[in-house]
Amino acid sequence: MTGRAALLLSLAAVAGCTTTAGDAPDPAAVHRRLLVLDTHLDTPLNFDRQGWSFADRHTLESDLVQLDLPRMRDGNLDGGFFAIYTAQGPLTPEGYRDALAHARKRSDAIDRVIGENAAVIRPARTAGEAEALNRDGKLIAFKSMENSYPLGEDLSLLAEFYRRGVRLAGPVHSLNNQFADSATDKPSWNGLSPLGRQWVKEMNRLGIVIDASHSSDATFDQLLELSATPLLLSHSSPRAAFDHPRNLDDARIRRLAAKAGAICMSTIFLSPMNLTERRAALFDKYEHIESLSPPEQAELVRQWVELDRTERMWSTTFEHYMAALRHLIGVAGVDHVCFGADWDGGGGIEGLRDITGLPAITARLLAAGYSRADIEKMTSGNVLRILRAAEAAKEK
Ligand SMILES: [Zn+2]
Repeated sequence: MTGRAALLLSLAAVAGCTTTAGDAPDPAAVHRRLLVLDTHLDTPLNFDRQGWSFADRHTLESDLVQLDLPRMRDGNLDGGFFAIYTAQGPLTPEGYRDALAHARKRSDAIDRVIGENAAVIRPARTAGEAEALNRDGKLIAFKSMENSYPLGEDLSLLAEFYRRGVRLAGPVHSLNNQFADSATDKPSWNGLSPLGRQWVKEMNRLGIVIDASHSSDATFDQLLELSATPLLLSHSSPRAAFDHPRNLDDARIRRLAAKAGAICMSTIFLSPMNLTERRAALFDKYEHIESLSPPEQAELVRQWVELDRTERMWSTTFEHYMAALRHLIGVAGVDHVCFGADWDGGGGIEGLRDITGLPAITARLLAAGYSRADIEKMTSGNVLRILRAAEAAKEK
């Protein structure tokens, strides 16, 4: 929402109404006025890609990317958490060293790309900074860390990433690591490792929000018990909608909500992941797209789009997504739901293929009777509240 839109809206609120009597609010206009954040953006995978610019308009068909600055305007995505994603590797000094180098490089790439587009988008380190940027009509770039593997066994490195702007981080990705068990691996720690328990303390001390997406159930339980501040799940779905360990069951959703946390609805794992051998090979290439020449990238895009014509990664429909979202809201309540579709990291479904589809969610929520205020809690308010809680509890 731009500063001007905010002003107009507050004037309308003073006047006592936002529409003339009898008119239903125009969903597209309501969506445009919301502050909308997404908690897990894998778009930085593309930031070091040769010949690719975040400032240009792209399409899925042209280069597989779901988010760029022009489309953020189209979908009124005001910002989100740009992820430093690190694939899990060996738990060895060499593995840690390589992962740390990768994470620093990715963090630098985020800084560079956001810096190059400072007229449009700026970094945010606090909830207040994000709100101020929004009032100034700027897009918001928070930074997050998906997988704490790059820290190795040196927790003092968390302070480095805090200084680099990281305000949300998860302990683990799709395989167990030195901190915790993953949702998609066999238990080795039965939750957090002893080092993982220290990681929680250091996260709380620094004021970084803990992201429990990708954590196993036992890891989630222990994070919830140990963390002094509310948890966020940056990209997870309700298990009731699809029984998969990456999703959260209703009892855990209720316990998360009881401790003031929030779960950000994903578009992934709402149906079986159709990760055929061919898709997996292409996905692997996509994760290393910065190492491909422009002709190699073009070939990857061609093969991906061709495969999409015969088999899709997810069979989820928009109706299925909305039903799952309504279930999540019903269980958690509007104060404990947020959005993290996993854009550019495997997310996107039929009817919601990139961020330009976001207004359709708001339209459906309005039609289901949710107020503008309730919807805005879910599109940003809950996330900002949790960031503030971490900031407030931080050791001064
Ligand atoms: Zn993920």
